[in-house]
Amino acid sequence: MSFVTHLECSYTGERYEAGRVHNLSEAGKPLLVRYDLKALAKAVSKDDLATRREGFWRYSEFLPVEKAENRISLGEVVTPLMRLTHSEQRLGLSGELIVKDEGRLPTGSFKARGLALAVSMAKELGLSHLAIPTNGNAGAAMAAYASAAGMKTTVFCPDDTPKVNVDEIAMQGGDVYCVNGLINDCGRIVGEGKEKAGWFDVSTLKEPYRIEGKKTMGLELAEQLGWELPDAIFYPTGGGTGLIGMWKAFEELEAIGWIGSKRPKMIAVQAAGCAPIVKAWEEGAEHAPLWENAQTAAAGIRVPIAVGDFLILRAVRESDGFAIAIEEEVIFDAWSKIGRSEGVMLCPEGAATYAAYEQSLADGRVSASDRVVLFNCATGLKYPLPPATQSIDQTKEIDYTRFM
Ligand SMILES: *Cc1c(COP(=O)(O)O)cnc(C)c1O
Repeated sequence: MSFVTHLECSYTGERYEAGRVHNLSEAGKPLLVRYDLKALAKAVSKDDLATRREGFWRYSEFLPVEKAENRISLGEVVTPLMRLTHSEQRLGLSGELIVKDEGRLPTGSFKARGLALAVSMAKELGLSHLAIPTNGNAGAAMAAYASAAGMKTTVFCPDDTPKVNVDEIAMQGGDVYCVNGLINDCGRIVGEGKEKAGWFDVSTLKEPYRIEGKKTMGLELAEQLGWELPDAIFYPTGGGTGLIGMWKAFEELEAIGWIGSKRPKMIAVQAAGCAPIVKAWEEGAEHAPLWENAQTAAAGIRVPIAVGDFLILRAVRESDGFAIAIEEEVIFDAWSKIGRSEGVMLCPEGAATYAAYEQSLADGRVSASDRVVLFNCATGLKYPLPPATQSIDQTKEIDYTRFM
C-alpha cells in the first residue's frame, strides 16, 4: 500500500488524482506527490528502519508505489558518507567536510534513484514504452530499470555525450540515438513524438515520480547523520530534481516529527558555461530563462533551461542558501586534486561542488566550523579521464632512481 492522497501542481496548488498517468500540470508545471503524513507517521518509526534492507526502497512508506511487486530493484545500496580528511586539514577546518558518494548506485549515478521510481510507477500504471532526453546518466538508469521491468525505452542524447554513456544505454537495453543539439533539443523530440510513437515522456520533472526517488537522498542523509541535518549542502544543479527532492524530504520529515526546523543552506552549484539558476538567483528572479550556447564538460549540469527553476530558486532562498557558478578549469583542477589527495574518484559535477565549497569558504559564505555535505552524483569512471601517458621500455635497462 502507499500513503499517497493526491498530486498537486507545484505552482498553482491545483489537485490531481492519484493512480492515473500524469505529466505536467495544466499550468505546465511539475506535479508533486502528497501523502497522508499522519497515517504514514503511525505506520513507520525510526526504529523500524534499522531492521530493513539497504538502499532507497527501505523508505517505502514515503514512496508512491502501491504494490511491492512493482518495486524494481537492481541491488541499491546506502551510499557512503566520506570525510575528506586531507582537505579538512589543508583548509584548517574545525567542521566536517563530507562527500555523499552517489556513484555507488546501480548504473553508477544517482539517476538510479529517480528513474527506479519513475519506472516502477510506470509499471504500476500500465505503461510499456518510455522515452527520455538525457546527457547520459538518466538514460542509462532508465534503460536499466526499464529492462529489468520488461519495458521498452527510447533515449535521445546530445551527440557529444561521453561515448561510454551512450554505449552503456544500449548495453542495458535502451534504443539510443545521438542528436545534433543539446538536451532541451532532445526534450523537444521526446515531447513531439509522444502522440506518434506512443511513448511516455520521462523528462526531468515532466513526470511526478523522479522527484520522489531523488527525495530518498534527503531521507537517507538524515538517517545517516542521526536525524540531524548538516549546515550546508552543495548540490550540482542541472534540472534540480535532487535539490527539490531533498527539500521535500526535509519538509515531510519535519511534518512527521522526525527532525526539527533546522535546515541546511541549500547551495546550487553550476558551471560558469551554463549557469541559468545562478543568474536568476543573482537577479532575484523567480524563473531562469534559457541559457544560450551552454557549454561545460560536466554533462550532468549542462541543462540550459529547467522546468522546475522556480522550485530550485525557492528552496535555495528559503534555506538561506545561494547559487554559485564555477569556471571550467577550476572544476577540472578540483577533480584531479580530490582524486590525488583523497583517493576519491569524483565525477566533474561532484568536483564542481568541492570547488564551490572552497570558494564559499574563502568568501565567508560558509564557515570553517560548518558540517558540509557535497553531493558526488556519479562515478568518475563514466567520464573521459585525463590520460596517464608514462611508459617503460622493458627491453632497456631501467633506471630505478626515477621512481624515488
Ligand atoms: C543529472 C546529474 C546532475 C544534475 O542533477 P539534477 O538533480 O537533475 O539537478 C548532476 N550530476 C550528474 C552526474 C548527473 O547525472
